[in-house]
Amino acid sequence: MPDTIHQLPDHVASQIAAGEVIQRPASAVKELLENALDAGATEIQLILKDAGKELVQVSDNGSGMSPTDARNCFKRHATSKIQEISDLQHIRTMGFRGEALASMAAVAQMELKTRTSDSESGFQLEVEHSQIVEESACAMNPGTVMSMKNLFFNVPARRHFLKSNATEMRHNIEAFTSIAMAHPDLAFRMHHNAQEVYHLAPGSLKQRILQFMGPGYISKLISVSEENDYLRIQGFVGKPETARRSRGEQYFFVNGRFIRSHNLHHAVTQAFSHLLAAEAIPTYVLFLDLEPDHIDINVHPSKQEIKFDDERIVHAFVAAAVRHALGTSSITPALDFDLDPSIQQLPAVTQPLTEQQVQKSTQSSLYQGFLRKNQAHAIESSSGSSWKELYAAALSEAPLQAETQTSVSRVSGWWTSSGQADSSEDAKIPMQLHRSYILQQIKSGLILIDQHSAHEKILYEELARSAQTRTSGSRQLLFPETLEVSLADAEVLRDMLPELELIGYRIENQSPGMFHITACPAVGEELSSESQTVERLMEHFKTFQSELSETRRDHLLRNLAKQKAIKSNKLLTVKEMQNMIDRLFACSQPQVSPDGKPTYLTFQLEDLQKLFNP
Ligand code: ADP
Ligand code: MG
Repeated sequence: MPDTIHQLPDHVASQIAAGEVIQRPASAVKELLENALDAGATEIQLILKDAGKELVQVSDNGSGMSPTDARNCFKRHATSKIQEISDLQHIRTMGFRGEALASMAAVAQMELKTRTSDSESGFQLEVEHSQIVEESACAMNPGTVMSMKNLFFNVPARRHFLKSNATEMRHNIEAFTSIAMAHPDLAFRMHHNAQEVYHLAPGSLKQRILQFMGPGYISKLISVSEENDYLRIQGFVGKPETARRSRGEQYFFVNGRFIRSHNLHHAVTQAFSHLLAAEAIPTYVLFLDLEPDHIDINVHPSKQEIKFDDERIVHAFVAAAVRHALGTSSITPALDFDLDPSIQQLPAVTQPLTEQQVQKSTQSSLYQGFLRKNQAHAIESSSGSSWKELYAAALSEAPLQAETQTSVSRVSGWWTSSGQADSSEDAKIPMQLHRSYILQQIKSGLILIDQHSAHEKILYEELARSAQTRTSGSRQLLFPETLEVSLADAEVLRDMLPELELIGYRIENQSPGMFHITACPAVGEELSSESQTVERLMEHFKTFQSELSETRRDHLLRNLAKQKAIKSNKLLTVKEMQNMIDRLFACSQPQVSPDGKPTYLTFQLEDLQKLFNP
């Protein structure tokens, strides 16, 4: 048998290694911007073409490189930043493995122009397939212009896997934002396809945040600043009203480096917990500084994860610092953590229940019912096949009488006393329990409908049907709503627009991060804020953005149905209940909600009988 193992050619090996570091244009954006920072630049410009697929170029006014350094910087493990492994422990600069440029050179064409301040002219070179193919002198100001062209030109399979321009731009903007946010003292500019996206003058952190989030935030930021021996935190959190349904305005930097940390995010959210609705995510831009020995930044450059040697201390510290900031800002009087003193003094709160009250409440049949441990076995959801007869029978009159009477002979006394003649009418009238459930008598017993799940199911099937036949109706909004989103989210929203229009939204993109909602789908509850609805849809959409369009749409419909469905704890009229029951049983699969929960339960008369005759 011939030998089968052979060593990969160098260029293949380095392409594979490069894949870890450079996954998409945004990876290059991050690496090139960080190199400019490391070179001490004060003015940095990013230019993108075709979402960075064609060009990612970063120009800076930093230290520049000598011609020799320029030739060497594309070699693997070429770095000016560490010499020994122990240096890794103390490193505070951004990149430190000397891998980024080598990786880019393996999967793209590179062009470098650079000049140190003490040299007369610049030096430029071109690299293809990791080899220098051309070099010459050039005229330029001190600094560096590094360009990465035609990413994955030599690895078509990977080029093919790049996402739509909208998606890649979202990643690019995220990478740019997370770096520019951390360096408000530096000037940044960003252009895409010859259009200026950002022009950020140097200033304070607060000014930088306003540059990104909009001047409207000026009165909505609360400063956070605490320090102890172990660590220091500073930055801003948004007042509760700036919290969004959609993630995106959350930034954590540890020693100047953008990181994602579930632990830290949780700490902030916890500090806000009394002030926000359950799904709202607070806005924050926070910087933690501590001795590098206490952290283990995952040295992999494409990851943004971090470990602290004591996660709990950091969590507690961050939560306390944010809580303190919230406590001292002007939002506190209206939103106290404790109960209003006037409520606390009410007798219902201060005094224990009297004997009489206890007796009264424990004697109620409801309370008794809950004491019966084994009642649950009688509750079954109906089997899928028989629901149609089930419901049809509910509304048939005379035959229902005859049959029920035979099967419930033991309770016939009670049954007849309520008046047989009327009960056929009564039987059709549904009843609402606890403003959340609908009770409806049917031929074989009764069904108990969960009004929220049922309505969610109805809307989902109706929406899906009209989206498929392209017959969705729109409801004109009396007052068009504006939706202001980050530029990254604006890309997502633009990506979603065709789908949203298909289901009945009318949304116009006014200016880069500004959308006008003029109409919404003509289904379900009229919600107080369509912009919030769209924000939630967006948040949901992000998770499924990369899926096939069919799946994406399905997820959107599900989420919209959930949002537009009647909630629990809402009073319904008999007409509304009847309408809901009719529409539920007109569904193709009425028995389960879009996320698989039962929409109704059936109770058989025989089972009820058994319960009373154990
Ligand atoms: P690392 O940043 O980890 O050292 P890179 O591959 O990103 O590795 O860069 C290699 C080296 O090239 C850097 O250490 C630095 O000396 C030099 N270099 C890269 N970009 C610039 C720049 N914009 N200005 C000056 N020097 C640079
Ligand atoms: Mg680097």
